[in-house]
Amino acid sequence: MRQSKLFSKTTKQLPEGEESKNAQLLIKGGFVNKSSAGVYSILPLGLRVLNKINQVIREEMNAIGGEELLMPSLINKKYWEQSNRWGVDVIYKTSEKRKVESEKDFDYGLGWTHEEVIASIAKHFINSYKDLPKSVYQIQTKFRAEPRAQAGLLRGREFLMKDLYSFHRDEKELNEFYQQVIGAYKKIFDRLCLKARVTEASGGAFTKEYTHEFQVLNHAGEDTVLYCEKCDWAQNKEITSLEHGDQCPKCNAPVKMDRGIEVGNVFRLGTKFASDFNLQYLDANGKKNFVVMGSYGIGPTRLMGTLVEEYHDEKGIIWPEIAAPFRAHAVVLGDSEKVQKEGEKLYKNLSGLLGESEVLFDERSASVGEKLNDADLLGCSVRIVVSEKTLAAKKLEVKKRNESAAQLMTANQLKKLFA
Ligand code: ATP
Ligand code: MG
Repeated sequence: MRQSKLFSKTTKQLPEGEESKNAQLLIKGGFVNKSSAGVYSILPLGLRVLNKINQVIREEMNAIGGEELLMPSLINKKYWEQSNRWGVDVIYKTSEKRKVESEKDFDYGLGWTHEEVIASIAKHFINSYKDLPKSVYQIQTKFRAEPRAQAGLLRGREFLMKDLYSFHRDEKELNEFYQQVIGAYKKIFDRLCLKARVTEASGGAFTKEYTHEFQVLNHAGEDTVLYCEKCDWAQNKEITSLEHGDQCPKCNAPVKMDRGIEVGNVFRLGTKFASDFNLQYLDANGKKNFVVMGSYGIGPTRLMGTLVEEYHDEKGIIWPEIAAPFRAHAVVLGDSEKVQKEGEKLYKNLSGLLGESEVLFDERSASVGEKLNDADLLGCSVRIVVSEKTLAAKKLEVKKRNESAAQLMTANQLKKLFA
């Protein structure tokens, strides 16, 4: 991709009125555009990052047997009424925030979660114990009337969610799958270079047991987490009276208290939605039972914001390689024909090696400062410079975004870097 052709451009100034680091840098770099508080367009550059995050999520969901589907955002009132969630909590009958105006006698809500829709779909396909277990997921836009939406992509009124739903014969089978999902989530956050602590939180409306949140400790987070560094114990402050310095209930070491960003969570739903929607199966003895369900969320757009909160410096974003918009950023410094030609050669070689869509090629006629500042702001993991200086040395200047020193390399050494 030639940088002169990019749809978006970087700006020199930080956007006005943005308090959060992730929104500031993502807007400045041209990854996203803010429509209104908590509502963002994901621009081509940002979509590259989001697609890479989603790819990791898809791979791990598929690996535990999840099948991808896509449910509607527009959800008729009758679904919410059946679970007693129309007007309760998040869908407001009278508020314009979530309701879509339509013809008389018709009311729709914009989906903020999909237990109702999936439970009613599952009725068509789950009849017998032989049909269980099953699990499906989607990556889809959700809508919520979030009162405070000032944290950029961390809290959207419209945001992307990966929601997985599972169906089981009994609690035991649910619990086994629940552990598998926890394992898959650990892999996802590991691969995205995020240290997410499995944190106990309140069971909410559907279960007396704990739910588990995946919390990335970061001051930009809105949750407060008590955790132990010696063992893996962690609880959301909402459910514990422990304070910083108190003894860990598991290993007695002093616990710490910090802000956390909830990047994912797992819920046991029990038979709440199965009974609301009369979702039953026949067991081996021919007896009817309610299906036991689980629901498991991850926020891909929140993850994109979290990566920026975790990985940036005063110059810009430092994407972990797996989420970077491009694997390599080739930059030509200098207008001479010789340098330009060498730059084109590098672009061609890198494209052969990584695929053209994984190489950003800065062939713009802009100042050295502007080009290097942009490279730092955009945050691709590896920057390769061609200049009069590198030509004279018959080498390329290679710099990793997360390291301070650049290295001179031959084309062959560069190739090995990407092997
Ligand atoms: P929170 O406590 O932060 O409001 P939640 O408990 O409401 O989150 P869920 O309804 O379970 O979250 O949603 C599943 C996942 O979707 C969350 O773990 C988070 O990653 C993401 N998510 C939830 N609300 C938002 C939001 N307003 N903006 C962006 N992502 C969100
Ligand atoms: Mg919420």
